[in-house]
Amino acid sequence: MCAIVGIYGNENAARLASLALFSMQHRGQEATGISSSCEGKIYTKKDRGLVSEVFNNKALEYLKGDMAIGHNRYSTAGSDSILDAQPVFAKYKLGEISIVHNGNLINKEEVRKELIDNGAIFQTGMDTENLIHLIAKNSKDRLRDRIVEALQKTIGAYCFIIQSRNKQFVIRDRYGIRPLSLGRLKSGGYIVSSETCAFELVDAEFIRDIRPGEMLIFSKKSDEPESIQLFEPEFRPCAFEYVYFARPDSVIDGKNVYMTRENMGKTLARNDKNSHIKADMVIPVPDSGVPAALGYSQESGVPFKYGIIRNHYVGRTFIEPTQEMRNMKVKMKLSPMRSLIEGKSLLVIDDSVVRGTTSKRIVRMLKEAGAKEVHFRVASPEIKFPNFYGIDTPNQDELISHRMTKDEICEYIEADSLEYLSIQDLVDSIGNDRHYALESFDGDYFVTK
Ligand code: AMP
Repeated sequence: MCAIVGIYGNENAARLASLALFSMQHRGQEATGISSSCEGKIYTKKDRGLVSEVFNNKALEYLKGDMAIGHNRYSTAGSDSILDAQPVFAKYKLGEISIVHNGNLINKEEVRKELIDNGAIFQTGMDTENLIHLIAKNSKDRLRDRIVEALQKTIGAYCFIIQSRNKQFVIRDRYGIRPLSLGRLKSGGYIVSSETCAFELVDAEFIRDIRPGEMLIFSKKSDEPESIQLFEPEFRPCAFEYVYFARPDSVIDGKNVYMTRENMGKTLARNDKNSHIKADMVIPVPDSGVPAALGYSQESGVPFKYGIIRNHYVGRTFIEPTQEMRNMKVKMKLSPMRSLIEGKSLLVIDDSVVRGTTSKRIVRMLKEAGAKEVHFRVASPEIKFPNFYGIDTPNQDELISHRMTKDEICEYIEADSLEYLSIQDLVDSIGNDRHYALESFDGDYFVTK
């Protein structure tokens, strides 16, 4: 998933970029990095770890200049090498260049093979490095023309910010799959970031979202960024941003994430209207299930209670390499409120079920703590397909909804009942005024080579 940010025209560029990355830490905790630009030179600092660990005062003082780009890396399967941290920096014929990328390029292998066949040498496994090579090999005189031509060969879900010595180029793919917004900094200059939650912390005013297929160019030539529509737009923003990934206070493409999650919970409650279940309370799986549980409670009148307490000092559980470690981490992270739930019938709400590890562990934990019944509700449809557009869901065999029917999953997680949203429910909850990228749920891989 990852988070990206660009700051242009502010003397505290790197500091503001680090604050923006801090507020988007939920999008990636594996590594973080910033490149700044000052008097024709690019300075880069990147490392494994959290933003607060990597960007101390010393690091920020090194990152001089009035423009900066930054990145938080999300743990994906495979490499956790520091080489895979971003920004990706390179020197080439026209000078120095640095790139950050959120998304996933689906023609990465073909492009890389062609580049290698022609003598290119790669340092990392990242698709982002392809773009650097395509730009460096191009013979056009202007960087912007090189970028435009490189993008013709770049297919997939992407938001890029490319920084040269004195310009920033911002590009969102023609489907607008991953989010990207533009804001004006009250202290001067601009911010572009994956999520608008960053704007609060850096004191920026939202201007607009970057349009699908658009390139923005920030340069000294003009106060306003120049906008070029590079590709015919075919808007398909990712529904999973609303389900799980984005922070609830962000507004993505005009829709507040919190409100969409509350709607998802309300829809679950409406779907349960005629069920015979008599629940004593609605309980969220913290934190991701909270807005949906509040929506469920509002719609059904069943009281909302914090029946599960979360330890905030444990990272996200999803990405641990072995099943045993994942089980243990869920236990370290979530604990039941015994006195509240003993002898009670519970409606438990989580945002999604991927492998079924979290839900199984939670149902067992609540039953061991004395719950009479546990009815599990999922504020998204069944995830049946792997995702190639920038969400690191596991391979298809690991997806529980690929292997089992809803009834089998209910039995497997030892719940008394289990319900999901339908795909239509999800679309209606977010807002059925547009098409979404729903490939995890419906297998529609609409980005074609
Ligand atoms: P699982 O235990 O594999 O079923 O994963 C489900 C849990 O992981 C849910 O509580 C979600 O909030 C969370 N989750 C869903 N998708 C992702 C993702 N792509 N990355 C990290 N966590 C996720």
